[in-house]
Amino acid sequence: MEKLTLIVPCYNEEEALPYFYEEVCRVVGELNYETELLFVNDGSKDNTLSVIKGFAEKDERVKYLSFSRNFGKEGAMYAGFCNASGDLVAVMDADMQDPPSLLPKMLELIESGEYDSVATRRVNRKGEPKIRSFFARMFYKLMGRISDADIVDGARDFRLMKRKMVDAIVSMGETNRFSKGIFGWIGFKTYWLEYENVERVAGETKWSFWKLFKYSLEGVTNFSDTPLKIASWSGIFFTFASVIAMFFVFIRALLFGDNVAGWPSTICIILFIGGIQLFCLGIMGQYISKIFRETKKRPIYIISESNKEDAK
Ligand code: UDP
Ligand code: MG
Repeated sequence: MEKLTLIVPCYNEEEALPYFYEEVCRVVGELNYETELLFVNDGSKDNTLSVIKGFAEKDERVKYLSFSRNFGKEGAMYAGFCNASGDLVAVMDADMQDPPSLLPKMLELIESGEYDSVATRRVNRKGEPKIRSFFARMFYKLMGRISDADIVDGARDFRLMKRKMVDAIVSMGETNRFSKGIFGWIGFKTYWLEYENVERVAGETKWSFWKLFKYSLEGVTNFSDTPLKIASWSGIFFTFASVIAMFFVFIRALLFGDNVAGWPSTICIILFIGGIQLFCLGIMGQYISKIFRETKKRPIYIISESNKEDAK
């Protein structure tokens, strides 16, 4: 019998977990797969860990990894991939926004043998603040244009994939992680399953607008060097413009003599170019800080506790 691993990253999910566990057990019970429920406790400050331990006591399918602190969902998913023992692996949020009831359909699609992974995509963003949806859509449009990883609008991290895809993800041990980009970048044949947005069953979202904004910048700088190109192109543009301006000033001085008029425009130009320079330096800085973090090769997560003997 094939084995299915469900990776569930959890951060302060004590309220949602009981609902989630019940629903998953119901769905999985009807499947013809050996299952592993791999909960990753991402340094929760509430009782998430004891809730998970409670499940593990009664149910030997439940495995958990518990981090020494909060490392973020990206780290939690990576830990899950590194420790999953299934032939098929899926990542699933603990709040039921990734409906477990989609699993049978996803498995059916994988079993058809045509696809290496089944990914999910929300077709609407019902129940989400309008402004948040607007910026999210802009982000996906922009990413589609400037990056080589194909990132789909409304894509969730909820995905079912075959072992070979999991191994590819594990081999990408980069510190700066942006899973939506990584999934797209590694390729493989993916089926996109669409579904209507579901609101969180309990607890609240861990993503403030500001956090999402930073996350989207992370996506841009991890999977595209277009900002660097913009920086160099604006440099080239201003160099040309300044050469032309120099000619203009020089010839005007020859013809009409030198006068001090034009101070305001000079200041405007200096300020403008100064601003552009700082902007470009800032872009470089973003990439340099990525290199800095990457070269330190720090672990992506640290496990403090687990009921898997071979947790790595
Ligand atoms: N999560 C995590 N670490 C974090 C933040 C979130 O493991 O630092 C988990 C969280 O428990 C949930 C999933 O990632 O299972 C998605 O989080 P959330 O529902 O807050 O995000 P949203 O659905 O609002 O985008
Ligand atoms: Mg959620």
